[in-house]
Amino acid sequence: MPARIISGKDVAAGLRAGVAAQAAGLGYKPGLAVILVGDDPASGVYVRNKDRAAHQAGLNARTIRLPAATTEAQLLAEIARLNADPEVDGILVQLPLPAHIDQRAIIEAVDPAKDVDGFHPLNVGRLQDGLPVLAPCTPSGVMKLLAAAEIPLRGARAVVLGRSAIVGRPMAALLLGADATVTIAHSRTRDLPEECRRADVLVAAVGRPEMVRGDWVKPGAAVIDIGINRRADGRLVGDVAYAEAASVAGAITPVPGGVGPMTIACLLENTLAAAIARRAGQLGRASAA
Ligand code: NAP
Repeated sequence: MPARIISGKDVAAGLRAGVAAQAAGLGYKPGLAVILVGDDPASGVYVRNKDRAAHQAGLNARTIRLPAATTEAQLLAEIARLNADPEVDGILVQLPLPAHIDQRAIIEAVDPAKDVDGFHPLNVGRLQDGLPVLAPCTPSGVMKLLAAAEIPLRGARAVVLGRSAIVGRPMAALLLGADATVTIAHSRTRDLPEECRRADVLVAAVGRPEMVRGDWVKPGAAVIDIGINRRADGRLVGDVAYAEAASVAGAITPVPGGVGPMTIACLLENTLAAAIARRAGQLGRASAA
């Protein structure tokens, strides 16, 4: 039986509608500031999509475009200004940054309460500790897809392929938080196909087109493909050989239309959550003073 297709488009549309409905009842517009440094075309597309989605959900979104020659000090000053701006609830610095800027210094400069990407070390640590947190958007999106598809996680064997700070590691932390038994595989893993074949839930985030073959997939497993790779012929493919894997898996996400749309939806959710939490905190402090 062919795998059930887990559509990120449908789940993301529901999340975005939910954010819009909640935002409409707040009495203020949650503010999202996106900083784009330089003119990387792919980043430009992502930022435009984020901006459009945020406006559609009724958020107060703005994109700050800075030239590629912006210095680290200038970018830090811009972040300090946004940290201090009470109308800004979420700050996102589009990565990658030009090589002359220390990405780590920038991530650490963002107020953790406004860190809607979930990359600040304080938020990374809270996630590892299983505490409530603004979690990174792509892995959060995967968790929501798994929930929507009713994939059981408690006690399940989950294998995360990839250990990047922004995808693989937080993905593993979220799966662990959902009581899965988690293995993180990477480029030094000895027998990758064998590790993958053990997975009830296989999440691929390697950035290698169609690397995961059908015979790496346990029959009936849920396969989540985070990869977005453009082939020489212009075709967009994931990290999983879709047709092969779909003939073995129980459920699978397509590329495009799987995890991709979830990332922006979760960014909107994080912005809403950051606004509610921070503004409630401010009210608390104001009334206590
Ligand atoms: P990354 O920083 O390059 O990390 C890739 C990871 O895969 C690393 O941990 C690396 O292992 C591992 N890896 C690479 N080649 C491997 C191989 N041959 N065998 C086993 N492991 C291998 O990439 P990323 O930022 O995590 O992104 C991963 C993919 O997700 C990319 O295709 C990216 O475009 C996509 N992505 C999608 C979204 C979305 O919204 N859907 C968001 C973010 C990223 P080592 O650590 O050992 O080097």
